[in-house]
Amino acid sequence: DTIGANLGRTVASFPDREALVECETGRRWTYAQLNDDVDVVARGLAALGVRTGDRVGIWAPNVAEWVLVQYATAKLGAILVNINPAYRTHELEFVLKQAGIRTLVAAPSFKTSDYAAMIEHARPNCPDLQDVLLLGHDSWTALLESGQDGELPEVALSADDPINIQYTSGTTGFPKGATLSHHNILNNGFFVGEICGYDEEDRICVPVPFYHCFGMVMCNLAATSHGACIVIPAPGFDPAKTLTAVSAERCTSLYGVPTMFIAELNDPSFASHDLSSLRTGIMAGSPCPVEVMKQVIERMGMAEVTICYGMTETSPVSTQTRVSDSLERRVGTVGTVHPHLEVKVVDPETGAPVPRGVHGELCTRGYSVMLGYWDQPDQTAQAIDAARWMHTGDLAAMDDDGYVTITGRIKDMVIRGGENIYPREVEEFLFTHPDIVEAQVIGVPDEKYGEELMAWVRLRPGAPALTPETLRAYCTGRLAHYKIPRYVHVVDDFPMTVTGKVRKVQMRAEAVDILG
Ligand code: ATP
Ligand code: MG
Repeated sequence: DTIGANLGRTVASFPDREALVECETGRRWTYAQLNDDVDVVARGLAALGVRTGDRVGIWAPNVAEWVLVQYATAKLGAILVNINPAYRTHELEFVLKQAGIRTLVAAPSFKTSDYAAMIEHARPNCPDLQDVLLLGHDSWTALLESGQDGELPEVALSADDPINIQYTSGTTGFPKGATLSHHNILNNGFFVGEICGYDEEDRICVPVPFYHCFGMVMCNLAATSHGACIVIPAPGFDPAKTLTAVSAERCTSLYGVPTMFIAELNDPSFASHDLSSLRTGIMAGSPCPVEVMKQVIERMGMAEVTICYGMTETSPVSTQTRVSDSLERRVGTVGTVHPHLEVKVVDPETGAPVPRGVHGELCTRGYSVMLGYWDQPDQTAQAIDAARWMHTGDLAAMDDDGYVTITGRIKDMVIRGGENIYPREVEEFLFTHPDIVEAQVIGVPDEKYGEELMAWVRLRPGAPALTPETLRAYCTGRLAHYKIPRYVHVVDDFPMTVTGKVRKVQMRAEAVDILG
């Protein structure tokens, strides 16, 4: 099915139910109103000459228009290109050119970024770019006016057509543009919604960016395929505003990467919010610490919270925990494979499947695997093999019952004196330290052992100073000696992507300077 047809069915079933709420402005849409406004935008884009297969860029934080443009392009069969809100001029120029964007919808600015100025700077170098529509400005108002009346253009759409280019987070290097079809992302959003048990009573609070699949698929497509409501707490992530939105809008579900939940749980205003409406939610995007999951269940009352594992290239979700799983598995694994997909764990060198319980590279196959990286056939061939298995680059193990545990990225594994160390395991342990609110472990070059472990930690406010000696003393007897970090670096913040992922590449580069 196509995304437009799916939305049409929800509109017919629940015309008067709320579909979208923007907390900062108080703007609200029912499904009927949302569909009307989507059609206005679609007709406006068509009047500009946007046709099936054309690329339409969107460069904005989480505002309602993001959602309107997502569905308008889907109805036209135009390919939506999600542009990272943190980009600067040269990165913007790169995407505009790489994806051949014809029409760009952008917020005029966000935080300290003057998008309008950056667009003007990049524009002369981007011959494909014909129209720039700035939200709230004349160009956008004119588009809405031209789209007021008339018929939607007749377009022949196939569910297998490309509908979206989503760039990966750029955690390990330069982002790659995953090209996805209606079939890829609509099905994935639908199954996420099924596993979360969504129906038209649900209200999903979405502090994760729409530009990423976590927002636009796991929230938007999951919500609209089930008649649930999308609640936007703020354009960018803010822990207190997120909690305020949950209580004011009586949200039943809350999303976040682990760092967002950590920020919410540690926010000074935490105790003042009424979170009793929360039933479920999703933690995903990077390793979900057991301690944080437990607190989300106990202190936020998200009894049915699930963990998802996936990647942009697979629409994104491949595995998810289920409410019926044991608590131990719900906090300690990424669950089991999603409906209609396959996962396997292979030896990264030989590609042969490894026995249950043994670590190897996780691979995914099925409807969710992207069409390919946009205009990068070599990269696509490296990622997807001849049998259509997507090689994720993640280290995982699967137990006898099919539960998958992610141990981290292959690139992040540390080899110290011949011993393989999974930083994730050491991080999980450091989270048990009473003064540590966040911990990240990397390998740094070492003459004797090849690599040594370095822990970066963020401490609870008011915690006493933490030295390598005191931390090592805490670890001694509880962690094997070779897993005990040699170096400790206390930080206020970690280098992060906009999707809230810690950039270990950058930490490793900075560590070399710190250690001299
Ligand atoms: P890039 O590919 O540009 O380096 P990225 O891989 O972070 O960035 P995404 O597609 O946003 O870009 O993220 C997918 C990755 O996130 C996965 O490959 C995995 O490493 C990590 N990830 C996602 N969910 C989980 C999870 N529940 N537990 C552990 N890791 C996860
Ligand atoms: Mg990746």
